[in-house]
Amino acid sequence: MERTRGIPLHAKILIGLVLGAICGSIGQALWAKDDTFVWTVANVMEPIGTIFMRMLFMIVVPLLFSALVMGVMEIGDARKVGRVGLLSLLMTLLLSGIAVGIGITAVNLVKPGEGIDHSKVSTAMPSSAAKDAEKAAAKAKESREKKPADYVLEMVPTNPVKSAAEAMDGGLFALMFFGIVFGLAMSKVDAEKSLPVKQFLEGLFAVSQQVIEFALRMAPYGVFALGFKTTALLGLDALGALGKYAILVLVALAFHQFVVYSLAILTIAKRSPLEFFRQIRTVMVTAFATSSSNATLPTALKVAEEEVGLPRDISSFVLTVGATANQNGTALFEGITVLFLAQFYGIHLEVGQQVTVMFLSILAGVGTAGVPGGSWPLIAIVLLNIGVPVEGIGLCIGIDRILDMSRTVLNVTGDITIAACVTKLMGGKVQDVPEEALA
Ligand code: ASP
Repeated sequence: MERTRGIPLHAKILIGLVLGAICGSIGQALWAKDDTFVWTVANVMEPIGTIFMRMLFMIVVPLLFSALVMGVMEIGDARKVGRVGLLSLLMTLLLSGIAVGIGITAVNLVKPGEGIDHSKVSTAMPSSAAKDAEKAAAKAKESREKKPADYVLEMVPTNPVKSAAEAMDGGLFALMFFGIVFGLAMSKVDAEKSLPVKQFLEGLFAVSQQVIEFALRMAPYGVFALGFKTTALLGLDALGALGKYAILVLVALAFHQFVVYSLAILTIAKRSPLEFFRQIRTVMVTAFATSSSNATLPTALKVAEEEVGLPRDISSFVLTVGATANQNGTALFEGITVLFLAQFYGIHLEVGQQVTVMFLSILAGVGTAGVPGGSWPLIAIVLLNIGVPVEGIGLCIGIDRILDMSRTVLNVTGDITIAACVTKLMGGKVQDVPEEALA
C-alpha cells in the first residue's frame, strides 16, 4: 500500500476504524434514540460505507474471471510439464484443503463473533443489512429444499454472461466453472492464436488490481463510516468480537505455518523444518513487509535456488504458478472471516452452506490476486452468495494490515514447501543442499 501525505495508507485505515468506532460508541451512549443521530447514521454513514463497498464489488467479475482463467491456463500448461504439474496441483489442493479445514474448525470452536446482542442487530440494522439477513434465511430454506443433483446442474451455466450478471446472487459457481473450462481450453489452443485473448486478460487483471487500489484509497473514510455505524448500533461489543477474531486468525495461521508445513517438509520433502525455515527467512520477511505474493516472487525464486538448493526448472515453475494459484494463508483467512461475520450477524449457516464456504475459499485461493488486500473482493462475493451482510468486511478491513502481512507469509512459504516436496517426489534432484538441511 502506498503512502499518502506522510501517513501510510494502512495506518490511515486503522485510524479511520478507531475514530469511527469511538465516535459511534459515544453517539450510542449519548443519543441512541435521538432523531438527528439516527438520521445521520442512516443517511450519511451508511451511504458512505456502501459506496466504499461497491467500489470493491464492481470489480469482482472482471478480476475473478481474468485471475481464474490465467491461473487455470498456467496449471493447464502444467500438464505439459507432466508430473511436476500434477504433483503441484495435488499438493495445492491438499494444503489449501487442510488450511481451510483448520480455519473453519477454529472459528466453530472459538466462536469469536458470538456474544453480540442479536436482537439489537436485527431491529436496529438499517435497510441493506436487514435485507441481507432476510436473504440469508431464504437461502438457507432454499438449500434445504434442493436435491443434490440440483447443486451439480447449477454449476454448469447455459449462459455465462447471465451467470456473470448474477454473480452476486448465486451465479458465482457457474461463472467459476466457465472460467475453468475457458482456461483449460486456452491452454490447448495454439499459443499464437490464443495470444490476443491472453494479453487482453492480463491487461484486464492489471486494470482490476488498479481499481482495488482506488477502493483502498477510499478505505479510511469508508471504514470510518462503517465503524461508526456498527458501534452506533452495537456499542463496543463489536470491537471486542473483532479483537477475538484477529487473534484467532493469527493463531490459526501460525498453526498452519509451523505445524502443517513442518510436517510436509519433514515427511514429504524429507528435510529438517528448522533448517528450511532458516533458509527461507528472507522470503518470509519480504512477504511480511510487502503483503504481496507477487512482489515477493523474485526473492522467492532466488532463495529457492540459492539457499534451499531446489532445481531451477521445478522451482521456477511451481513458484510462478503458485504466486497466483496457491494461497493457503488466504484460503484459511477467508474461511474464518466468512464464518466470523455470519456469527457476528447471528446468521446460522447449515452444514451444506459451510461446505460451500469451504469450496469457495479453496477456489478463492486460486482466484485471489497476490497483492495487498487481494482477498477482499472475493470475501465480498462469498458473503453475498451465502447471504451474510457484506458491510461487515468494513470492520475487518480496519485491522487487516497485520493479518494481510501474516497470511502472505503463509502464501509464499506454501509455494516453496510445495516446490521442495515436488522436488523430492520427482526423485530429489537437489543441488548443493547443505548436509544439515536434510532430515
Ligand atoms: N496479500 C495476499 C498476497 O499477496 C493476498 C490476500 O490475501 O489479500 O498473497
